[in-house]
Amino acid sequence: MSQSAVATSSCSTVTELVRRIDEFHRSYNPLHHVLLHPLGTDGWSLAMKQELAVTARQYYAFHLRYRPGHFNILPRGRRLFQQLLVDAEVKVEADRLNYIRIPHPPGRCEACCTCCAAASSAIMHTIEWQKRGLPHAHIVVWMVPDDKPRPDQIDDCVVAELPDPAEDPELHDLVRSKMVHGPCGGLNPRSACMSDGACTKKFPRNFQRETVVPERGGGYPLYRRRAPEDGGFTTEPRGRPADRDRPRLDSRWVAPYSGSY
Ligand SMILES: [Zn+2]
Repeated sequence: MSQSAVATSSCSTVTELVRRIDEFHRSYNPLHHVLLHPLGTDGWSLAMKQELAVTARQYYAFHLRYRPGHFNILPRGRRLFQQLLVDAEVKVEADRLNYIRIPHPPGRCEACCTCCAAASSAIMHTIEWQKRGLPHAHIVVWMVPDDKPRPDQIDDCVVAELPDPAEDPELHDLVRSKMVHGPCGGLNPRSACMSDGACTKKFPRNFQRETVVPERGGGYPLYRRRAPEDGGFTTEPRGRPADRDRPRLDSRWVAPYSGSY
């Protein structure tokens, strides 16, 4: 991917001189994503990092977060929103690469490396740009034993249950329409995910009262998926109301998602 092809914008001044705006300029977002910034609000900039210690990742994490009751125009931008996310990813990566490229005082560098080493021993990631949908990352982090996340910390970032439709109906509808697998198996043996009579994605999963990290199993946690009798929720299958052939779906069919969004 050509960074410069994505993360530059240009504008003409009254003197007809064309000025190039790079991705670290505060006016990049309002100039390049005009419809998503109708008031011309400044975007993230290097000055924001230097004066307020806010990184590009922190800036976008704050502005993209879903907050009940708060109107946020960005996620409603459809394909414009996807373009904004691509630009945001470029800025985050460029910000990190700049940190590595630009020399820092020895003390600060050492402190940073020590801090990183205390949390993880190795990180590997790849970002896939597929033909449709959003770019997404596959990330593997090797944690040092004392810093491995506890089940309650996992629950803070990964959810694999249907949300309470009364408490958060918007999230419930999103999970129902985007994160429910199938149904497959006995309910739909001809589903595309079926092979040799079983779901290749291992759905439906088992009910799980609490999130646990088994000693064996390659470090994969078993996420909490509560049964209805334990407080879990159910939802209508997609396409038509539930009936004898297509019963209501429970959390065994939910793919893990970020519950904080
Ligand atoms: Zn399946």
